[in-house]
Amino acid sequence: MTHLLQIDDLVVDYASGGRTVRALDGAALTVEAGETVGIVGESGSGKSTLGSAIGGLLPGAAKVVNGAVRVDGDDVNALGPKRLRALRRERLGYVFQEPIGSLDPTMRVGKQVELALRGRGTKADVLPHLDRVRLKDPERVARSYPHQLSGGMAQRVAIAMAMAGGPEILIADEPTAALDSQIREEVLGVIFSLAAESGTTILWLSHDLPAVAKRCSRVVVMYGGRVVESGSASEVLAAPRHPYTAALVRAVPGELAEGERLVPIPGQPPVLDGPSRGCAFAPRCPDAHEACSADRPPLVSVAERDVLCHLAEETVGAGR
Ligand code: ATP
Ligand code: SF4
Ligand code: MG
Repeated sequence: MTHLLQIDDLVVDYASGGRTVRALDGAALTVEAGETVGIVGESGSGKSTLGSAIGGLLPGAAKVVNGAVRVDGDDVNALGPKRLRALRRERLGYVFQEPIGSLDPTMRVGKQVELALRGRGTKADVLPHLDRVRLKDPERVARSYPHQLSGGMAQRVAIAMAMAGGPEILIADEPTAALDSQIREEVLGVIFSLAAESGTTILWLSHDLPAVAKRCSRVVVMYGGRVVESGSASEVLAAPRHPYTAALVRAVPGELAEGERLVPIPGQPPVLDGPSRGCAFAPRCPDAHEACSADRPPLVSVAERDVLCHLAEETVGAGR
C-alpha cells in the first residue's frame, strides 16, 4: 500500500563547527491522506529537520546518512531538482514560525499571492484567497508591503500562499510561536478550517502537547531524533505509553486534580554526535533498566499505538 507520506529509518547529520550533530537518528513515520498530525518534542528533538526533509529543504550543512522519505511513493531524496521543485509547488505547503521570513519584503502582498497561485488563478483570485484566511480588508492587505502588516496578518498571508497551490500536505513548523497568545488561536483556526475544507493533511510541529492534542487526530512524540510514540491524540494524552510521553503529560500545566502538581522532566535532552547506543531517553527515564543503555529499543505496535521502548509490550494495552 502506498502511503501519502512514509518516512523510514531516517538519519540526518549536520556538520557544525568541525563536529557532527545527529539531528535524526532513525526517525520513522507514516501518514495517510486527511490526517491531522501534531508532532511534539522538546527543542532539538528533530522536528524541524524532519519537516524540512519531507520537501527536500534541508540546509547545505545537513546530510541524509540513511533512510528514505516518500511522498505518494516518490523517494524525495532521489528526485532531481526539477521534480523536487514540482513536488514542493504542487503537493506540499510550508508555514514557518516567522511569517515575515516567508514573504518578499520588496513586493506587494497581492503580487506574492498571485505568484503563489502558479497559474491556478489570476489577479482576480487573489482577494478571495486573502478573504479565506479571514483578513479583514483584503484589498488594503493586497496593496501593502509585508512590513506594513502585523505578525498575525503576515502569518495569514503566508498561510494563504502555502494553501494557494492546493497542497496535499501542509507542514506548519511552530506557526504561532512568534504571535501573541490571543492571535494564536485565530491563526490555528484558519489553518485547520482551510485544511479541513480542502482535505489537506496537516503536519503541525509544536512544543505544545495539549494544544496539539486538542486540534489533531494523531499525536507523534519525538525524542533524540526518533519518533518514540504515535497514536490517537486523545488516547496518547489520556494514557501515554512511552515513559517520555508520560513525563511530558505530567509536565503540562493543565487541569490538575487537587494535590497533584507539575512534575518537570529532570535532566537535559541529548545532543547526539552519532548513533545513540540504547535508548536516548535512558539517562532521564524513571523506568530505565540495564538493557536500555545497551540495546536500541524496538518499535512495538499494538492497538493503533506505536511505542519505541523496551517496556512497550508491558505498557501497551496494560495501562501505566
Ligand atoms: P526546536 O523546537 O528548537 O525548533 P527541533 O525539534 O525543531 O527544535 P531541530 O531544529 O530539527 O529540532 O534540531 C535537531 C538537532 O539538530 C539539534 O541538536 C540542533 O541543534 C541541530 N541542528 C538543527 N539545524 C542545524 C544546523 N543548520 N546546523 C547544525 N545543527 C543543526
Ligand atoms: Fe525508558 Fe528503557 Fe523505555 Fe527507554 S527503552 S523509555 S530507558 S524503559
Ligand atoms: Mg524546530
